Amino acid sequence: MTNYSIMILPGDGIGPEIMAEVRRIMAWVEDVHSVTFDVTDGLIGGCSYEAHGVPLSDEILAAAREADAIIMGCVGGPQWDGKTDYDKRPEAGLLRLRKELDLFANLRPAMCFDALADASSLKREFIAGLDILFVRELAGGVYFGEPRGIETLPGGGRVGINTQRYSDAEIIRIARVAFDMARKRGGRVHSAEKANVMESGLLWREEVSKLHASDYADVKLEHILADNCAMQLVKNPKQFDVILTDNLFGDILSDAAAMLTGSLGMLPSASLGDGGPGLYEPVHGSAPDIAGRGIANPIATILSFAMALRYSLGMGAAADQIEASVSKVLDQGFRTGDLMQAGLMQDGMQQVGTAGMGDAILAALENN
Ligand code: NAD
Repeated sequence: MTNYSIMILPGDGIGPEIMAEVRRIMAWVEDVHSVTFDVTDGLIGGCSYEAHGVPLSDEILAAAREADAIIMGCVGGPQWDGKTDYDKRPEAGLLRLRKELDLFANLRPAMCFDALADASSLKREFIAGLDILFVRELAGGVYFGEPRGIETLPGGGRVGINTQRYSDAEIIRIARVAFDMARKRGGRVHSAEKANVMESGLLWREEVSKLHASDYADVKLEHILADNCAMQLVKNPKQFDVILTDNLFGDILSDAAAMLTGSLGMLPSASLGDGGPGLYEPVHGSAPDIAGRGIANPIATILSFAMALRYSLGMGAAADQIEASVSKVLDQGFRTGDLMQAGLMQDGMQQVGTAGMGDAILAALENN
């Protein structure tokens, strides 16, 4: 029997509640797919700061490195908001984990479950069946480029500086991820940059084209300016399969696309490096306003676990089953409070809490 080592980092706020439902789904996968998960639990974020004085301890980082996949909840909360010491803030634990594991590829699906199509700000016909995968470069670009800072000018004024910088090697490694993903999906990549006004964009376009010609001619590649990509996402999002883009444009474009598809409580993500463990986490934060009440939507974290099965453990069939079961319970009318607020509660539907949604998904898995 195959054994996988999984690190679970529930984090703060609603993290422990939603992770409890993931653990139940993991047990189902163990039973049905003849695998075992060797789970290590750890602290990250504010809870780690309270216990160890740091948002991510060296011990947890070392254990995370050894895992096959890391499933994280969410970090942060108002009790730590006032902290001016940035490396002690809950988010610093997550940033350290991403940096130390060199997780340079951020995968964010923007999928629309049929039952939620009416909650979109776009008309149903534009959104039903939407399935885009964003491949965003996560470790470079303007968020990290040097020089950076705020400087006082000789005349007394001030200037804020950030540098957009990409090497050919950084572009090639993220483009490879996008082409590989496209081969497993619809076979199409749109590469978004601003080659018309930025040298880093021009290099991006050239390197993506070269890699495409040498290694991925079977994938359909189109270059698109990032501003046009934003317009097309709102005008006709279903034209896209995989969107490859840099750190800054990816941040903005993937958030915009995600919001076309319903609630924050539905959105999973994956961050991958070269070979080591992937980090899988919901897009949402720790939702302190509803933490501890058993009403949070666990679906984003459950779908993140499904991504771990697909991308780190090679268990695509189990991932498909979980995604199909989520779709089924939504069709059956099960709704957590966030989906209800998003206008998705109609007659005949049933409002459930975190565990109730977990029950429904497990029942759907068992009846498949
Ligand atoms: P948030 O995502 O936590 O919450 C925004 C709104 O969405 C809230 O009303 C919340 O109740 C709701 N919501 C979020 N997830 C939900 C779920 N699964 N089910 C039901 N409702 C859900 O964002 P915020 O309020 O801006 O931030 C709260 C804290 O989370 C802050 O400390 C912030 O720094 C942190 N944060 C962490 C991450 C992360 O861990 N990756 C991401 C974003 C924000």
